[in-house]
Amino acid sequence: MKKHNFNSGPSILPQTVLEQAAQAIMEFNNTGLSLLEIGHRTTYFMEALAEARALVRELMDLDDSYEVLFLHGGATTQFMQVPMNLLDTNETAAYCDNGIWGNKALKEASLFGNVNVVASSKDKNHTYINKGFDIPADAKYLHITTNNTVEGTQWHHIPDTNVPIVADMSSDIFSRPLDYKKFALIYAGAQKNMGAAGVNLVVVKKDILGKITRPIPSIMDYAKHIAADSLMNTPPVFAVYVALLTLRWIKAEGGLEEMGKRNLEKSNLLYQTLDSLPIFTPTVAKEDRSQMNAVFVLTNPAHEAPFLELCKERGMVGVKGYRTVGGIRVSMYNALALESVQIFCDLMHEFAASVS
Ligand SMILES: *Cc1c(COP(=O)(O)O)cnc(C)c1O
Repeated sequence: MKKHNFNSGPSILPQTVLEQAAQAIMEFNNTGLSLLEIGHRTTYFMEALAEARALVRELMDLDDSYEVLFLHGGATTQFMQVPMNLLDTNETAAYCDNGIWGNKALKEASLFGNVNVVASSKDKNHTYINKGFDIPADAKYLHITTNNTVEGTQWHHIPDTNVPIVADMSSDIFSRPLDYKKFALIYAGAQKNMGAAGVNLVVVKKDILGKITRPIPSIMDYAKHIAADSLMNTPPVFAVYVALLTLRWIKAEGGLEEMGKRNLEKSNLLYQTLDSLPIFTPTVAKEDRSQMNAVFVLTNPAHEAPFLELCKERGMVGVKGYRTVGGIRVSMYNALALESVQIFCDLMHEFAASVS
């Protein structure tokens, strides 16, 4: 039976990317060797890395005042690496507390300097995004999580401020056109929307670096990674290559405009179905709904187990909500076809009819 992959991460990738990645493991670029067997300083790999870095800049429409790095670790590493590089002990960074991941990020930052939580949606279980809050002009940076993977909210308007914005885009990277120049630093673990686990994308505006007094261990130092062209040590070569394949796929499909169009269409279909069926209850403020992760509950909690069972029977994978949130979470990343969302919506209708 065909599986419909709604996993939240690691998650669905384009079929062609999987095929090309498998091929590269068997033999890379007619070298007679596997991608996993060649040196990371060979022309073959260095060309792949350079192409991936250039594609990121192209897709985000950024000039060379920004640098693109592929670094080890997941987004969780960036929770620490960002403040280590940007925030001195006596300085203050502004953080938005809009979900589990942002909350972890601000706790890590407090190990390096002062954290000012300028907005929090904790009062309503992180079911909305704060608007119109004050950002102190002397904040070193403002940290937001553009898409809250667990709670199912997304920033649809990026705040206007002179304070540099740092964004965790792990779960909506390359999902829509945005004015990426609004950000001073963007980071994302690859395994949600751009590839295999094990690599982090970091896009950084160079002029925000070099402004603190703390000594930084080399492997954690963005400036040293930039100087080394993102090759300070052995990078996670396979994960970088899968990211390259995904970036090529995004460009070939029509870039971020096209991704944004598809993601809007998929999420509109899902939310319209949700709103039309009283047996389901959305948990998130309408205007802040995520195009990537739709979170909702069964209005009658007794319906949850049979609904999940039906999903399983029909090959719907990964629709159970996060362990601390419960309910249902449907992740609809770039590579998920509209058809899968349509089939899931048909199932919602079928289930609703069967219990009424
Ligand atoms: C998944 C996720 C993380 C954690 O990523 P790791 O790669 O597991 O460290 C952080 N932030 C967001 C928004 C996420 O979705």
